Amino acid sequence: MSSISSLFDEPIPLAQARERVEQLRKEIEYHNYRYYVLDQPVISDAEYDRLLQKLQALEAQYPELITPNSPTQRVGAPPSGEFAPHRHIQPMLSLANALSLNELREFDARIKRFLGSPADERIDYLTELKIDGVAVSLTYRDREFVVGATRGDGFTGENVTPNLRTIRAIPMRLRDDAPMGLVEIRGEVYLDHEEFHRINREREEAGEVPYMNPRNSAAGSLRQLDPKITARRRLQIWCYSIGHADQYRPETQAELLEALSRWGMRVNPNHRLCRDIEEGVAYCEEWREERRHLPYDVDGLVVKVNAIALQDRLGFVSRSPRWAVAFKYPAEQATTRILDIIVQVGRTGALTPVAVMEPVEVGGVMVSRATLHNEDEIRRKDVRIGDTVVIQRAGEVIPEVVSVVEERRTGQERRFEMPTRCPVCGAEVERPAGEAVARCVGVSCPAQLQRRILHWGSRGAMDIEGLGPAQVEQLVEKGYVRDPADLYALTVEQILTLERFAEKSARNLYQAIQASKGRPLARLIFALGIRHVGETVARLLAEHFGSLDRLAAAVEELSAVPGIGPEIAASVHRFFRQEATRAILKKLRAAGVLPAEAALPEALGKAPKAFGADLTFVFTGELQSMKRSAAEALVRRLGGSATGSVSRNTSYVVAGEKPGSKLARAIELGVPVLTEDEFLEKVRQTGA
Ligand SMILES: [Zn+2]
Repeated sequence: MSSISSLFDEPIPLAQARERVEQLRKEIEYHNYRYYVLDQPVISDAEYDRLLQKLQALEAQYPELITPNSPTQRVGAPPSGEFAPHRHIQPMLSLANALSLNELREFDARIKRFLGSPADERIDYLTELKIDGVAVSLTYRDREFVVGATRGDGFTGENVTPNLRTIRAIPMRLRDDAPMGLVEIRGEVYLDHEEFHRINREREEAGEVPYMNPRNSAAGSLRQLDPKITARRRLQIWCYSIGHADQYRPETQAELLEALSRWGMRVNPNHRLCRDIEEGVAYCEEWREERRHLPYDVDGLVVKVNAIALQDRLGFVSRSPRWAVAFKYPAEQATTRILDIIVQVGRTGALTPVAVMEPVEVGGVMVSRATLHNEDEIRRKDVRIGDTVVIQRAGEVIPEVVSVVEERRTGQERRFEMPTRCPVCGAEVERPAGEAVARCVGVSCPAQLQRRILHWGSRGAMDIEGLGPAQVEQLVEKGYVRDPADLYALTVEQILTLERFAEKSARNLYQAIQASKGRPLARLIFALGIRHVGETVARLLAEHFGSLDRLAAAVEELSAVPGIGPEIAASVHRFFRQEATRAILKKLRAAGVLPAEAALPEALGKAPKAFGADLTFVFTGELQSMKRSAAEALVRRLGGSATGSVSRNTSYVVAGEKPGSKLARAIELGVPVLTEDEFLEKVRQTGA
């Protein structure tokens, strides 16, 4: 950990620092461009990190040099309560659709009629892939990124600048031959398939509803109020046009794409200049199958008149340009009959109704199952067992039932009822108000068992080294482990029967399991896998209640804990009310797992005495041993106070990694600055 004092060891003068900071930012932006835009990095990740660290160190020394566009600030912005509206200089209009190749030819004919040109005249069209993502507008002033917004209603979107800054492929500064003045660049933010699946796995692990498709997921990621969450998702962007530009006017769309590329924007390489509409039609045909090999969803192609002068003559009709059309591939559909509706219990306990159908080919693949999503969807579409239905496959989603062919009903169809008990373990099924997904809350449900055990041993939870997916799978299959408490009854001999275990490794796993008995309360609460209780919430609960018994018995007090909303409170209450939960707690206690007290962050050891009430702390930057909110809670528990802004009355400012302007303010006011270690030492002293 770098301490503040060491950063101040070799001070360099402000003027020199300013120059160096500028130079580092240029260098880092260049490497971002090589890596994220061109996909051709020229330095190693480690070298890149070193550049970033140098910049961070200089900025920590001279916080006045920090600008919102500094590469260090890509994830720096605090969460916002809501998004401010942003009015586009040039509206973001929507395109008319062409749903067949003939409609493309009609589009061409309409243009010629409008222009009064002969029917056999050839018009150049620039044909581009239509990415299934979220349209955004990026505004640059004198090449500096100033604001980014969603499309909204076309005239006014939402200002999501801090979230867009987290996308590395968006340059914070345009490259040197970009025009000065204002430029609005338009692009599509999207997620590739791999990242989409990764996010959904993560959501499922956290007990959240998975996203329906990559577009939906990209939109959700872009509209997070906390940019830190957006930053954890690898959003990408392709840029394809400009809105307003003070000092730039291309002759053609093809030229514009080249220019965007030169300015440092990411431009999709798959586009073609077509010499007439038939070439455009052929290009659309080419991609019909080919698009399936791309790592992201493409739902069609956009065909634009290439010459800007012609575009200007054509103008707009209502809210769409006359000179462009979006050709959309039809979703692939098929008709079949539902033989049965079954309920699958996912690894998170989510109950999903699935239609079992007569096998049918759709989009080149035989399918016999389609998702019905949830109970509400079944009601809305009025799907019954025995119905003939239309199913559909589009992009990166599993087949779904779109609609019922009612004319084919015979009267023999049966309505489906969602079970009130889990079909796997028989535990209660809960469907919280406002949620579409029903879940099994059984703490020892076999459908969820592997995931629960894996979570139990994970690093943030009981941290059992050597308890990976392969081991958990075998332990569950052999019937050795039916709930987390069973782990503690495992013998070395039993572990030896698992694949790839020898005497020594078996003993190591045994010891790792036994060692986890002494973990602090916060980890144990997290390990229980209560819905909506992540590491932070677990820590808050541990700090507030101090013991598992008190937490288990709490009902009203739960929602009084700062940071615990009604949804979390309800989930915790529901969890501890379960018969199976009580049984497991009893088993854990018998195995010696329940920590009596562990109300303090682990770094601190034993419980301290109080700080004076007049002792006021302000935290800035990231702490290594705990979250900032936990440090603040700790100060308050010790009787001191923690505030958000520095004044003359502040006793200490504690500066973690990447401290913000509060550090500068402290130095200005002469408030003592502590490193994290010094702060922890102070806390320890109170307990000595
Ligand atoms: Zn169950």
